[in-house]
Amino acid sequence: MTSTDSLALSAAATSNGRDLLTTGTFGVINPATGEVFAQAPSVTPDQLDDVFDAAQNAYLSWRIDDEYRRDALRRAADVIESRTAELAPILTFEQGKPLADSTLEFNLAATWLRYYADLDVPRQIIRDDAQGFEEVVRRPLGVVSAITPWNVPIALAMWKIAPALRAGNTIVVKPSPYTPLATLALANILRGTFPDGVLNVVTGPDPLGEAMVSHPIPRKVSFTGSTSVGRKVALGAADDLKRVTLELGGNDPAIILGDVDVDAIAPSLFRSAFANNGQICLAVKRVYAHESIQPRLVEALSEIARSVKVDEGTVDGAVLGPINNKPQYERVKDLVADAVSNGARATAGGKPIDRDGYFHQPTILDQVHDGMRIVDEEQFGPALPIISFRDEADAIVRANRSEYGLTASVWSGDADHAAQLAPQIEAGQVSINMHGGGVRPHLPFGGHKHSGVGVENGPWGLHGFTELQVIAGPSRQ
Ligand code: NAP
Repeated sequence: MTSTDSLALSAAATSNGRDLLTTGTFGVINPATGEVFAQAPSVTPDQLDDVFDAAQNAYLSWRIDDEYRRDALRRAADVIESRTAELAPILTFEQGKPLADSTLEFNLAATWLRYYADLDVPRQIIRDDAQGFEEVVRRPLGVVSAITPWNVPIALAMWKIAPALRAGNTIVVKPSPYTPLATLALANILRGTFPDGVLNVVTGPDPLGEAMVSHPIPRKVSFTGSTSVGRKVALGAADDLKRVTLELGGNDPAIILGDVDVDAIAPSLFRSAFANNGQICLAVKRVYAHESIQPRLVEALSEIARSVKVDEGTVDGAVLGPINNKPQYERVKDLVADAVSNGARATAGGKPIDRDGYFHQPTILDQVHDGMRIVDEEQFGPALPIISFRDEADAIVRANRSEYGLTASVWSGDADHAAQLAPQIEAGQVSINMHGGGVRPHLPFGGHKHSGVGVENGPWGLHGFTELQVIAGPSRQ
């Protein structure tokens, strides 16, 4: 399939179930070539009025029928599954990830829709007796403004769309300008599955994101992206007291104790750091390895890094694609160069790959320490520092010495011991002998400290798209 074949689906923004007419467009770059390969519609902040009006009108009837909403979510899951073969290449062309990973994102989208279709929106009768009637219900908020990043655009959009719609809200989604097409295509194929105005998708460069926050209609902003932009979103939403959920950056530590079987854990640890080229909020971004096994771990991870096939996402057997965009590619190059110039040793990789596009060698860095930028900052790319430690308690202090607190992991031959250490780590999730083990539709996902406010997924994620209401009165008996 060529890029042109796959784009027929993704021509326009979806507002009120149809194309939103836009005059301007912006170029979308294929990170595997560094060239613009498609145009996406540039929705202006002024046009948001119509989009949010449509979402507001749709809300009035969408919120009413609980069973209808469950059925619509299930139908949407079926539609996505039946069209994944058309959708996945679009994501690969704009994001860079291998086709199998793009396919997985759409599969996850269907899984999330079905999970929420089956979940009840709780109503709790507190009292129903001769003295009175009291019930606590959860009402939808109204219209939701959803803003997503470029690393996992479809799955992360669905973390918002599925619970928001299940609870009875309607939604306007704005993907990143680096990856607008797959989300536009998603909305396009779901026209008719949801009533007009329930699911709307707009794309456009700055200042569209800001306008998504400041617009008076949405009652909630659900944002996934960097901590610096998350702060702006919180400030923008504060003006008219919109509810916010912020899923932000991370610098996730993996602590590897001295009793592990290095060769057994290395492949899983490598995947946890390098999947999607390290461009996952909860990727392992720093490894603290006990000094007794640190050299062998460096060797094992380096062997894997050297053997991994890096190529365009459409090429058979490609495990890693390019970095998604030029600024991120430059950032990874800078951080690796900074580490090496400060004494780090690249035991695998260490350089960009000499070809078009934003390809970088999977890089393992030894002789690194806290205080280096590659350790202290979120690299969000294919470069992993392996830091040595002697004392377990010290490793935990160092893991916690970060403004972030998204996820973490502890790896040990003694899983019970690792589990005892887990609560000492300041993070929203701590996995044992794996990383990111808690990313499931039914478990809460959210960051501590500067990694976020609120959670997504599970009933907790659903509750985030509702407000409590008490209904009380005299006895009905
Ligand atoms: P980003 O630069 O913060 O952008 C995220 C989204 O926010 C984009 O759609 C962007 O659109 C929009 N935006 C920018 N300025 C805005 C503003 N003032 N008001 C409202 N929206 C605005 O993040 P990114 O570079 O796309 O993604 C990488 C970051 O996301 C990393 O830090 C990663 O850790 C984090 N992330 C977190 C999670 C999580 O669940 N915790 C998941 C994935 C990624 P424009 O580009 O048009 O400005």
